[in-house]
Amino acid sequence: MLKKTFLIVTLFSFSAVLTSFTPVKKSQQVLKTVIIDAGHGIMANGGHNGAKGTYSYEDDICLAVSKKLVAQLKQTYPEIKIIETRGSENIVSLKERANIANHNRGDLFISIHVNAMPPIHHKELAGYKTEVYYTGKGKKKKKRTRKVAQYHYYTTPNTRAKGTQTYIWGAHKAEDKEVAVRENAPMLAEENYQEKYGDIDPNSPEFIALSLVKTKQFGQRSAMLSQMVEQEFAKVGRISGGSKQRQVGIWVLQATAMPSILVETGFITNPDEEQYLNSSDGQLELAGSITKAVGSYITWLEKKQNPAAKVSASIPLTASEAKLEESFLEALDHHSFAGTKLTK
Ligand SMILES: [Zn+2]
Repeated sequence: MLKKTFLIVTLFSFSAVLTSFTPVKKSQQVLKTVIIDAGHGIMANGGHNGAKGTYSYEDDICLAVSKKLVAQLKQTYPEIKIIETRGSENIVSLKERANIANHNRGDLFISIHVNAMPPIHHKELAGYKTEVYYTGKGKKKKKRTRKVAQYHYYTTPNTRAKGTQTYIWGAHKAEDKEVAVRENAPMLAEENYQEKYGDIDPNSPEFIALSLVKTKQFGQRSAMLSQMVEQEFAKVGRISGGSKQRQVGIWVLQATAMPSILVETGFITNPDEEQYLNSSDGQLELAGSITKAVGSYITWLEKKQNPAAKVSASIPLTASEAKLEESFLEALDHHSFAGTKLTK
């Protein structure tokens, strides 16, 4: 009996030793820090910065959606550090937003915005007014009258503009992104970067080439995430305007040395959408869709990191989405990167 107990204890402790000493092959955490950027804010003079609806403001909605997104991300991915660029109603400069993202070495930058469309202008015939006028001079002067059309001018909200759009920076801004990558060198913050890249002199051509590779990778990742976000919006019945390259620069998108997207959550100028954007349910749905997309993105990154792993991360891209990604990467390839000279 004693012998048997001894054996069991021995076996047990042996296995315990084995368990504690067997290196657990845990995959590297692909997303450590996510930056959430609530667009706009209250300016120093007390005014709202951003678009305006009939009763609400873009900056208020951006903050409310961002707060819900932060809460959902923290709850779903407690291991990820979440940083807010604008935690209060007050505006934060674009430069400061980029600084916060870069100094915290974010792995992802998600900016939350609300879209707007100018109202439709109408001109309606209201009636005619009789106008008196004169012809001729002196004795020939004659009083005449004529009817003049009177118009009523008014505007109505542009109800055709609705739905979501998710942007990545335009390929023509790839050079700026590359500069941000070079200046902030996010690759040097990676685990075992020396093993991966060796000793790198930030002024060397090798380092510049590496920044370029990194910029391309960020472009591809941003394009992928933006498509995932739009797919989630479509699943809950939003009208998805798809994933697009921002033609007029959203400076923060290219000033952040990490994959970055800008989500236009809906049109504040569309009465139905203004109501949705201001409702708690709508905000929760938006935050939930983005959280799910981040989940798909994590799975996709993990699959890229370990292609052998059996994870169902394949998100089928529609033909147009695949084309967007291809055209974006091609534009990056053909970009001259004027500031980047690989010769010494
Ligand atoms: Zn905005």
